[in-house]
Amino acid sequence: MKTAIVIGGGIIGLSSAYYLSRAGWQVTVIDKGNRRNNCSTGNAGYICPSHFVPLATPGIVSQGLKWMLNSRSPFYVQPRLSWPLIQWGIQFMRSATAQHVQASARPLRDIALFSMACYEDLKKEPGFDFFYAHDGMLEAVQTAENVHHAKETAAIARDLGLDAEWLDKDGVKAIEPDVEMNILGATWFRCDAHCNPEQLVQNLEEYLLKNGAELQADSEVTGFTKQNGVITQVQTDKGTHNADLVVLATGSWSREMAAKLDLSLPLVAGRGYSFLANASDFPLRRPVILTEGRVAVSPFEEQIRFGGTMEITAINTPPRYKRVEGIVQSAREFFPQLKLEQPKAEDIWYGYRPCSADGLPYIGRLQKTPNVIVATGHSMLGLSLGAGTGKLVAELAEEEKVSVDLGMFSPERFG
Ligand SMILES: Cc1cc2nc3c(=O)[nH]c(=O)nc-3n(C[C@H](O)[C@H](O)[C@H](O)COP(=O)(O)OP(=O)(O)OC[C@H]3O[C@@H](n4cnc5c(N)ncnc54)[C@H](O)[C@@H]3O)c2cc1C
Repeated sequence: MKTAIVIGGGIIGLSSAYYLSRAGWQVTVIDKGNRRNNCSTGNAGYICPSHFVPLATPGIVSQGLKWMLNSRSPFYVQPRLSWPLIQWGIQFMRSATAQHVQASARPLRDIALFSMACYEDLKKEPGFDFFYAHDGMLEAVQTAENVHHAKETAAIARDLGLDAEWLDKDGVKAIEPDVEMNILGATWFRCDAHCNPEQLVQNLEEYLLKNGAELQADSEVTGFTKQNGVITQVQTDKGTHNADLVVLATGSWSREMAAKLDLSLPLVAGRGYSFLANASDFPLRRPVILTEGRVAVSPFEEQIRFGGTMEITAINTPPRYKRVEGIVQSAREFFPQLKLEQPKAEDIWYGYRPCSADGLPYIGRLQKTPNVIVATGHSMLGLSLGAGTGKLVAELAEEEKVSVDLGMFSPERFG
């Protein structure tokens, strides 16, 4: 039996392991943590073809500079003398062009729709009972300038074949009658779905354990043995594993892991925070993005999650809870009747989004080390693109024709 070592037990690693296991590989997932202290559980759970605009846009650079002076703002780059950060910043600014945004729209749409179809199939599999709802998502706006922008985005979405419609305030009220919103309107992306990420990763782990995969926790991959141009062994701080195939799915730690394979993978960690509130106090029927506050709100069955902020920072710097005050403040401004208290520090989750230098994921087989498949750098879209990425990894492993054109996602695009 062919053996695959998947490094990283977040949504990308677990999805890859799931589809590899189904394709007949003997899979071992190795994680340096407990597969919960990563980015894949406390996120908003959006599965969102609506997000066809990559993080690297012309607007984000100027907006980011304005926001940087405010400790409660949704975007922050911690200034530090770090060569990888400087390199990433240069490549990010080079990528943040209108042409890049336009060229990325179809590839992002295609992989998101593919991934959504994978989730819908997964949902029908025995043993998968995670919360999943295809009720769309509202992108709500408060300013006239953003109304204009939202209408334009809705039109582009429709040109891309996505089901999206601008609703004025009364239109929003008609579909969300139980919640008062201080907004001018919202784009209703009926094309979107959302799920409970904790339940999803748990179902994936249960499937893998039942079907003969090995899940190793607290085991850090430290290096590789290469012979005749391919990786033959993966070394960890606990021992060595033989491998026919290696999948690199190490999220925000991928730059360092790639360097061990002589691969330059510009990537930084974008920390975000979330917390849960009681859904009965807050009867929202579908997810809402609070555009001006950059806050994502997700109703799960009994709970509702508020999440946001993008803090480009070194991993393991102490969390800055002031950012969470910004999330609470935005939520109060958008939902005037909402009684939302600042959560206690111990009730706040945070995770590090793996942010590539152009806002597109890195997915593909390495030309210079052909038994390594890279699947990382999904930034704000790792959950949305998770199942689809996993299936693409298995297609690459099986040397099948891939279901999505991976040209723009090549992990070797930065050299
Ligand atoms: C507030 C917030 C809200 C978000 N909302 C959404 C959303 O609604 N929809 C969406 O699509 N995305 C969302 N995201 C982004 C999404 O959560 C991430 O893109 C995704 O979780 C990344 O998954 P991953 O598997 O690549 O990384 P991770 O989940 O971080 O997993 C990487 C794993 O690799 C392991 N690892 C690293 N190095 C090593 C090593 N040397 N040896 C062994 N193991 C190693 C780590 O321990 C970790 O478990 C959100 C993020 C945040 C912060």
